[in-house]
Amino acid sequence: MEIIFLGTGTSTGVPEIGCQCAVCQSNDVRDKRLRCSVLVKMRGKNILLDCSPDFRQQMLLQPFEKLDGVLLTHEHYDHVGGLDDLRPYCRFCDVQVYAESNVCEAIRTRLPYCFRENRYSGTPNLELNPISLEPFIIEGVEILPIRLMHGHLPIVGFRIGNMAYLTDVLTIPETEYEKLHNLDYCCPVKLFYNKNLG
Ligand SMILES: [Zn+2]
Ligand SMILES: [Zn+2]
Repeated sequence: MEIIFLGTGTSTGVPEIGCQCAVCQSNDVRDKRLRCSVLVKMRGKNILLDCSPDFRQQMLLQPFEKLDGVLLTHEHYDHVGGLDDLRPYCRFCDVQVYAESNVCEAIRTRLPYCFRENRYSGTPNLELNPISLEPFIIEGVEILPIRLMHGHLPIVGFRIGNMAYLTDVLTIPETEYEKLHNLDYCCPVKLFYNKNLG
């Protein structure tokens, strides 16, 4: 398994436009962070975890290969803002997007032009697949959703093999702990240091 951290920044990215704080003014490359997304390569399949507004910039640095699935943790803009930029990947086939049903509905509302009949030819071909907290399979790769609490907002993390991607999590319901046993990699890409930031 290969895990590529495409972005680990806060919702504004780091640096934040106009911010004068020491981190945003720093020249350290570790203080240049794009919005959250991870690319997992497993058994020849490419699975994208979240699709950030920086998706285009992130993927220009990766080989152009079919995306076998796009998993969304929640509907906040910093995790879904790049969905329209999936257009080039529709050359391989329709892009399969997996998310909880409320998130699928939010995507339909935000990108209505992708889902109406008689679409403009330049729009991305996205297929929304509602998920529950039960495991599901993408091209032979098992995905296990994990309930996380983003403050009061229920969202999901994903376990793939012995890797778990947990973002924006403030608390984890105890009933989910057993799904996190025996991990080799836990990727808590964006933890809350301030619950007012998303
Ligand atoms: Zn700052
Ligand atoms: Zn969020």
